[in-house]
Formats: sequence, C-alpha cells, structure tokens
Amino acid sequence: MSRANLAPAPELVDTHTHLDDPRFEGRTEAVLARARAAGVHRVVTIGINLATSRRAVKLAGEYPLDVSAAVGIMPHDADTYQNVKKEIEELSKEPGVVAWGEIGLDYHRDRAPREVQRDVFLDQLKRSRAVGLPAIIHCREAHADLLECLEEVKDLPGLKGPPYGVLHCFSGDEREARRAIELGYLIGIGGVVTFQNARSFRELVRGLPLESLVLETDSPYLAPHPHRGKRNEPAYVRLVAERVAELHGTGLEEAARITTATARRLFRLGEPEDFGAAVVYPLGRNLYLNPTSHCTNDCTFCVRRHKLGLGGWRLWLDREPAAGDIIGAIGDPSPYNEIVFCGFGEPLLRPEVVVEVACWLSERGARVRVNTNGTAHLARGVSAASLLQGLRGLVNELAVSLNAADAEEYGKLCRPGEGDAAFPAVLDFIRAAVALGFEVTCSAVALPGLDLAPIEDLAAELGAGFRKRTHRPD
Ligand code: SF4
Ligand SMILES: [Zn+2]
Repeated sequence: MSRANLAPAPELVDTHTHLDDPRFEGRTEAVLARARAAGVHRVVTIGINLATSRRAVKLAGEYPLDVSAAVGIMPHDADTYQNVKKEIEELSKEPGVVAWGEIGLDYHRDRAPREVQRDVFLDQLKRSRAVGLPAIIHCREAHADLLECLEEVKDLPGLKGPPYGVLHCFSGDEREARRAIELGYLIGIGGVVTFQNARSFRELVRGLPLESLVLETDSPYLAPHPHRGKRNEPAYVRLVAERVAELHGTGLEEAARITTATARRLFRLGEPEDFGAAVVYPLGRNLYLNPTSHCTNDCTFCVRRHKLGLGGWRLWLDREPAAGDIIGAIGDPSPYNEIVFCGFGEPLLRPEVVVEVACWLSERGARVRVNTNGTAHLARGVSAASLLQGLRGLVNELAVSLNAADAEEYGKLCRPGEGDAAFPAVLDFIRAAVALGFEVTCSAVALPGLDLAPIEDLAAELGAGFRKRTHRPD
C-alpha cells in the first residue's frame, strides 16, 4: 500500500525574502517547490516601496498556502513617503498581509536625510500599531536612534502584547539586541551566521535566547555558506536553521520548532502547535473534514501529488486528528449544507473516527457524505459489508471514486497499493453499499481522452448514481 511520508522535514518559516525580485521572475513555482522540499512552509515576501509592496500583496494572493506579505517604505525611499502613505495603509489591510515593513533607519547608505528617515520610520511604526501589524525593521549603523524610536512607541495600543516586530538581518551588538528584546522585538538571523568570517556574530547569536530569534534569508541577497555570493532563495533558510541549531546545541528539529513557533507568534498566524494543517475546512456551503493523509491509491490526477492543500487550506497533516479534535474544530455544523469526509487521503482507513464524528453529526441533524475510493476494507482486511454496517444510519451518501470501467484502466489511473485486487474491491463496496440502502454516487474525473460513458453504465448496472468530476490540471 502506498503510504505518504507525513513529516519529511522540520517546518521552517523564511521570515524575510524579496520574492518579487527580478532574479526570481518566472521561477516562483520552482523556488516555492524547493522551499517546501527543504521544509520551508511559509515565506514572508517584503515590500520596500509602493511598487514592491503591491507586488508582495499580489504574490500572497497568488500563493496563499506558501506566501504572506509585508508592506512598507524603506529608509532609502523615505522621501516618497508622504505621497504614498495612504496607499501603503490600504495595502496593509489586504488579505495575506502579516507585517508592516521593511521600515527603519539606514545611516550607512544615507540615501535620505536622517531626520526624514526618523520621521518616516516613526510614522510607520505608529500606523502599523494602529492597524495591528508587527513591524519588520531594517537598521544599519543607526541602532541608538532606532532604540529611541522603539521606546517612543512602546506604550501604543494596537497589538495585544509582544512580539511587536523583528530587527531583520540584525547587525547591532549584544547590548542593543538585548534592549530590543526587552522592548518586545525579535532578532532576525540570516545567512551571515554561516559566513566563515562571522565568528563574533555567531557568538552573539549563541548568547541570545533561542525563543527571541526568527530565521530569514533576505533572498535574493546574502546567500548562506556554501552559496555565498550567488543568488539566495527561501530553501536556504534551512542552512541558517542548521547553524543556529548547532550554536544553541539543539537538534535541527528543535531549533526549527522553536523559531517557527516564534515566527507564527510574530505574524499572528495562529497556533497550530497541534496541527500545521486544517482538520476541517469550509468550501462553498459545505464543510469538509480531513481525517487522514494516508491513502490506498496514488491516482495520477490527485491534487495532493503536487499541492499542499486546496482553497487556501493546508491539508497535508502533521499528525492524524482524533475524533474529538475534529468535533472540536467543527463547532456548530448547522450553517452547512453538507458535512463531507474528504481530505488529503482515504477517510475510511479510519472508520472508527468516521463513525464517532458522523454519530455526533447525525445527532445534530447534519447531512453527512463520505467521499471514498471504496478500497479501505481491503487494506484493513475486512469485508465491504462489515465496514459499511458501522456507518448505517449515520452517513447519508457515499460518493465513490470509480474512475474506470475495467481493472486495467483503473490500475493505470489510480495506481492502487493493493494491485489487481483493488478494482473488484471497489465494485464489491458499491454493491454492498447499495444493498445496505445507502445513497451511492459513483464519480469519474473527466480526464482528456477518457470515455466516461462505460463508467456511467457500470455505475447504473451496480445500482448507483453517477457524477462527472472536472479535472483540474495544475
Ligand atoms: S483516492 Fe483520492 S486521495 Fe487517494 S490518491 Fe486518489 S484522488 Fe488522491
Ligand atoms: Zn530585505
């Protein structure tokens, strides 16, 4: 049976990247795929002026599962601020925006007068607080003034407690870092920590509490060793995590877990300490339940082969929820047309959970459907009828993915872990369900070149209805 690997890498967040940089143009998908493969499940793409802030919001809209956005005006562009501040504030309220930045002070490049830089920085700090967003702060050779500004806004309302922001790509000294932490800010650590000549910076990182650090790439700049000098990308945040883990004497997993939890607190991404993924997710007027990421099949057309989730929900589970977790996540089933067991796997591989949740739902008068491939009984070594007995009176409809009119075609399209035994098992399942009085609908995905007529005929012969499903090539 094909079993998915549930936790391939510790989960990381790249808290600072410039995904809209021309060096990533036309490569976003590939860059994000490499990030996911390295365990980086979220990247925050940063605006530095109005144009890049707009692009950050757009990217977060296009890739909601992977990308969040920050909008703001960097010190280099402080001169433009008065003309664009209204628009930045509007952008800060767009979906997917999790921070205001990068903003700050840069006395190294001094591209705008220092007084203007300070005014613009303070104004953005205040506005970010007012809209309830943390700040992403850039600072070069200006830490004394920076800390003064942070003091000035320290009692402003707007965020319910720290973290109030992050000093990204931190370049100050230990005293400054500690003061920023006291004021409720985090310290952003990037590729510099891996540089061979960065011994004193590594000492600083070693001395700071791991809970106050978040990781970043600042890609496409500042690639970590051994890529130094080349184009950086979010996947390399793992190299930063490895070095931080080493400095703090933890394993990679622990450093990833702690810094990711901190990043989630910073960006108010919720607390999926238990679940990195959605256990229930509404789509349209239905509520879908996601009890497992295991499946008996490996269908060629399955979205989970190349996606982390659907409709903005991450569905690959970090661990399987208990029935109580699902019931807790449902809350009130009454607003939905239907409650559907349909996640990133085969729900009937966990019949005990389906029964317990369906029982709770039926007591509340909800209409319940189970989407299934009809082969779970085979994997569990029981008959279709005995598996179905437990669902009687609890499940209104069984929607069975039939997908083929014969075993050969089924084998090619659905690649069942149970081999040749799978197709006859699906037919058994449908027959038994019809005999037990369930409403049964067979479905087939309208793949190019696939003749649906014989599949529909087969469904009718078995006493079931038929529904064509649209193929979503991605
Ligand atoms: S049966 Fe469903 S979940 Fe399993 S591989 Fe096929 S399409 Fe994906
Ligand atoms: Zn940056």
